[in-house]
Amino acid sequence: MKYLHTALQSGDTIDRDCFKKCVCENIVLVGRALKNKFVIPEWQFFCSVIKDLYTSAKSNSGGKVANYIPQLSRFSPDLWGVAVCSIDGQRYMIGDTNVPFCLQSCSKALTYAVGTTEMGSEYVHKYIGQEPSGRSFNELSLDHNKKPHNPMINAGGILMASMMKPNLSPADRFDYIMKYLQRLAGGEFVGFSNATSDSDNFRYLSERDTADRNFALAYYMRENNCFPPGAAAALQETLEHYFQLCSIEVTCESGSVMAATLANGGICPTTGERVLDPDAVRNTLSLMHSCGMYDYSGHFAFKVGLPAKSGVSGAILLVVPNVCGIMVWSPALDNLGNSCRGVQFCTELVDKFNFHNYDNLLHQTSQKLDPRRRRSDVKGREVVNLLFSAANGDVTAIRRYAVQGMNMSQADYDGRTALHLGAAEGHLDVVMFLIERCNVNPWPRDRWGFTPLDDAKRFDHKDVADYLESKITDKAHFKGDGGPEKT
Ligand code: GLU
Repeated sequence: MKYLHTALQSGDTIDRDCFKKCVCENIVLVGRALKNKFVIPEWQFFCSVIKDLYTSAKSNSGGKVANYIPQLSRFSPDLWGVAVCSIDGQRYMIGDTNVPFCLQSCSKALTYAVGTTEMGSEYVHKYIGQEPSGRSFNELSLDHNKKPHNPMINAGGILMASMMKPNLSPADRFDYIMKYLQRLAGGEFVGFSNATSDSDNFRYLSERDTADRNFALAYYMRENNCFPPGAAAALQETLEHYFQLCSIEVTCESGSVMAATLANGGICPTTGERVLDPDAVRNTLSLMHSCGMYDYSGHFAFKVGLPAKSGVSGAILLVVPNVCGIMVWSPALDNLGNSCRGVQFCTELVDKFNFHNYDNLLHQTSQKLDPRRRRSDVKGREVVNLLFSAANGDVTAIRRYAVQGMNMSQADYDGRTALHLGAAEGHLDVVMFLIERCNVNPWPRDRWGFTPLDDAKRFDHKDVADYLESKITDKAHFKGDGGPEKT
């Protein structure tokens, strides 16, 4: 893309060589664009909804910026960014999406994904459980097997940190995970800052200075023999490593690519590289779903129904499996430690789109949009289903569509409605259901000017014709229709 950018700055055409370079760099994206095969086909429309949700959450001024880690308290509560990356590499950013912030607890989901990719889930779960703790993220407690409840809370995060390449030197261990995260982000921004170079950037040391609880957790776990062989002796190193992981910085933009890699089963959508094992990704998403949002996890799973991981920096890494990854960030937190604007955005996202894990994808309801389909396809499919059910006399299906909130008066390209089809095929029960229960207009005209009554008569369905004729007297009931006489 940088070639394209340079070329466009120097004039409005690009030469063959430049075109080739642009295409090679983005071959997956370009290929899908040409075949019109993006996972979210109406991207512009999708982005316009994301923009509305962003704007709606922007007016939420609730919450407080975390102050227990000094560096975090310096962020303005007004910062607010949302970045989306689809599994096909479609991108959208709005707000403060280029400002670096530290991952904090979001790093736990990523470290777990990397750790299980490298060591396998069986090994990792010899030491860490899979249950929501039902307690605060840094509570001094273990499960009944004397393991941390799960890898998404501090105890589990510390234990996970102890397992990551324990034989390497601290600098190499850190490098190792950084390289992994950079691949997850498709080479986009992943940074780290400590006090050594810049007085304003000392998240890591700032964090270390306020870390009594995490030291206490580590000692408590050592007392209970929680650590794998070798790690117990290196407690200090393990904690340093854990604090460093929390202090890794991303932006909304790079974080959205990481989330999209999780959404895409471990293959980075912008580079096409397989970074994580698919089973490790599935396990990560399961645990994010049940344990990723602190003490709000159950509520979030119920309401939003998507895997997410929150951090005290105000970040939420949200995954819509097989569709897209989203990073939202705003530092003001609610009293459970989640970003106020972030939670509002996630909730409204799922009110708008059928992304909740248990939204029904087979039967379109009129309230929620399915961005995986073109709206025109959805409409076309809906009309066809309705009209075929009417023609087949399938009152059960028609009742189901009515309950789902479908528009029962809708017509196809020729102006044919369910009532025309029901009448033409002589299905009195369908005709009666549509008129009496769905209150459809009894006199719609198709493109040739025929009403359902004309159809019933043409095809000799006397019972249907008599019934429809009886409705002439009720005509006043139905507003705005032309009545049986042609107008
Ligand atoms: N580094 C933080 C701590 O251990 C993580 C807090 C969080 O984001 O949950 O206290």
